[in-house]
Amino acid sequence: MLNVLNVSIYLFIFLLGIIIGSFLNVIIYRFPKHISVAKGRSHCPNCDIVIKQYDLIPILSYILLMGKCRNCKAKISVRYPLVEFLTGILAVFIVFFNGLNIPSLLIFILTAILIAISVIDIDTMTIPYSLLISLIPVAGVFAYLEGDIVGHIIGLFAISLPMYVIMNIKENAFGGGDVLLFAVLGFMLGWKNILLTLFIAAVVGAIIGVAMIRINNENMKGKQIPFGPYICLGAFISIMFGNEIIAGYLSMFHL
Ligand SMILES: [Zn+2]
Repeated sequence: MLNVLNVSIYLFIFLLGIIIGSFLNVIIYRFPKHISVAKGRSHCPNCDIVIKQYDLIPILSYILLMGKCRNCKAKISVRYPLVEFLTGILAVFIVFFNGLNIPSLLIFILTAILIAISVIDIDTMTIPYSLLISLIPVAGVFAYLEGDIVGHIIGLFAISLPMYVIMNIKENAFGGGDVLLFAVLGFMLGWKNILLTLFIAAVVGAIIGVAMIRINNENMKGKQIPFGPYICLGAFISIMFGNEIIAGYLSMFHL
């Protein structure tokens, strides 16, 4: 039901989401360079000028500055407002489907960290361990609230352990970051939903991988495609709708 109160709550959640998205941009930029996120103000990467407070308003500043640095007119990546918008819209999405409650808050924290992990993985082909470790308490509380601790502990190993074995047999099959990501996500989601996560990641990864090779096969030669973003997408769909998807799938076989 969309009334004035609901609309203002969603608007507030969206604004909160884009502010957190703007903090995610700082993490995405600074973590791979090992710069502290707490210290120092943001600089323009081109002219190094300290960016003014009023030019740091999520999304709005990008539009007002028309995507250029106020001082040197260097282009600002459209990725900054996109990350902010994505974080805001997903916050609204989570509350819309899951309500305003503690599990929704935990799902949102997970989603925010997964956005940062995805973009960093695309940039650097690595997943920072510190981000994975920050997920552990979130996963622990979520698993505790869901109950079925055994199912969550099986989830911790269900994909990560076979991947770890394969990684040790066949070099460069996956990165260690992917294995740890599956471990933490498996603990949070439980064994059924982490299997669904792998399935979604593999299917979407294969479709996009083939499409990208078709579009520019020359540029793609020898280029590694990160798997992290697909795992993150699979995990998000699984944590939001996994139980319904699995129940629907099983009902097809009258189980
Ligand atoms: Zn500049």
